[in-house]
Amino acid sequence: MSARYSGLGVSPGTAVGPVARVRGPALPLRDGAPVDVEAETARASEALDGVADELEALADRAGASGAVLVRQARMSRDPSLGAIVMQYVRNGRPAPRAAWEAFGAYRDMREADPLRGAPDAAELDDVRDRVVARLLGEPPPSIPDPGTPFILVARDLSPALTASLDPARVLALVTERGGPTSHTAVLAKALGIPAVVGCPGVASLATGQRAAVDGDAGLVTVDPDAELVGALTRKRPAAAEITDGPGRTKDGRPIPLLAAVGGKGEVDDALAFGAEGVGVFRTEFCFLDRTDPPSVAEQADAYREVFDAFPGRPVTVRTLDVGADKPVSFIRLGDQPNPALGVRGLRVARRHPQLLADQLAAIARATRESRADVRVMAPMVATTAEAAWFATRAREAGLQNVGVMVEVPAAALRAADLLQVVDFVSVGSNDLAQYTFATDREDGELADLLDPWQPAFLDLVATVLRAGAVAGRAVTVCGEAASDPLLAAVLVGLGAAGLSMTPRSLPVVRAALARVTSQQCADAAAAAVSADGPEEGRSRVAVLISS
Ligand code: PEP
Ligand code: MG
Repeated sequence: MSARYSGLGVSPGTAVGPVARVRGPALPLRDGAPVDVEAETARASEALDGVADELEALADRAGASGAVLVRQARMSRDPSLGAIVMQYVRNGRPAPRAAWEAFGAYRDMREADPLRGAPDAAELDDVRDRVVARLLGEPPPSIPDPGTPFILVARDLSPALTASLDPARVLALVTERGGPTSHTAVLAKALGIPAVVGCPGVASLATGQRAAVDGDAGLVTVDPDAELVGALTRKRPAAAEITDGPGRTKDGRPIPLLAAVGGKGEVDDALAFGAEGVGVFRTEFCFLDRTDPPSVAEQADAYREVFDAFPGRPVTVRTLDVGADKPVSFIRLGDQPNPALGVRGLRVARRHPQLLADQLAAIARATRESRADVRVMAPMVATTAEAAWFATRAREAGLQNVGVMVEVPAAALRAADLLQVVDFVSVGSNDLAQYTFATDREDGELADLLDPWQPAFLDLVATVLRAGAVAGRAVTVCGEAASDPLLAAVLVGLGAAGLSMTPRSLPVVRAALARVTSQQCADAAAAAVSADGPEEGRSRVAVLISS
């Protein structure tokens, strides 16, 4: 008799294949040996900090889940968590066991705290597993890669893990925990991957076991017989996913999917994940970790290397965006009381015009020597006058296709005016959210305010996209808003003509767009904009898109 597990079918379709498990560390045992309290305390503290650093680094590269990762990093750095871990060590637990038990106590403490409330279970467990894995010298939890398409089984899928999921390889998703609105459920629906969540016992399945998943009935059968496989295959196989080729909606509307890149590593990723070009080429990499400015020749070589990876394809290069979250040692900006609201981005050129002139000269030289379709844009533009000033400098340098990023609400409100003086605008959703909500994008505690599903943020994006439509100019949305597959459909519905994101999010968004029509996107946009808040917007759109 085949073992059968029953849960909640949250995304329809069926699949049969080998199981691959997300493996967290096993519960570390106490072996009774005496504990060197000082050494174990130091190890535990290093692991908590190390995991926080690792999550912050992931957040920098992540897509829509960046805010979640920042929040998780904060959990790992929470002094009250550290204190509980140390208490367990002093009570005789070796560091891995102490950490494991302390996370449980920390969850209870947070649950009892009316102000802070309980942390999200999947997010907290993910931090715990990372800390324990680090202490045991094991790799952090990750999506497995068995080499063939597989059924992904996990106790729970953290946003950090789902961000790196490749829909071409995952036949179905099965989790022991989670409900109909869980992260896993929403993602599976958006991608058309059959999914069963809230399925007790299923986390005990072993990698390599064959299983059949019925996402309609909420059933997972181990070692299914030929009869069941036949029945499931006839019933409703999983939708065949579009996992490569250009981005387009189900009814064939092209939506170029572009990569955000900041150097060679991301260029490789962009190519591997099928980017149709570059939506934002962050040039800061050329300036960071230096004590003097790079020469025009050095810059031109570095830029050409990226341009050359995209012959004939669009590459939108952004001029230097230093200041605030991107400091550069040789550009002294003084002690600014609030750097995010101070001299950053294009504003740096007010003090250091030669820096911009050299960079534009380098970009122009690299453009002449490459076959990429290069466009140039400035960051942190607030007014039409600033946009015009930049456009004049860029054109004087010999650049043809000149634009600005819309990252400041003032620029969004006056996008139509900006389009009178530049060739294109591009929405910088990371900063536009930060400045719309007066919320530091580095601050994980306030991540809910930076949620790109906030209707007020979507209103501003819609204003820019409308201005683009009136002026007959295609507007791309950059930043990480588009790496959420549901929100990508909303942005298309609002009129985005292209979407740029961290390269690893491209397959998920490509597959999600291929499942929706332009009309569904328009309906999704209307639903998200008219929602009371992000949660309502998300669930309304999830329903619209999966129907
Ligand atoms: C943005 O703000 O959305 C953007 C693309 O720029 P960065 O994230 O580099 O500030
Ligand atoms: Mg920005």
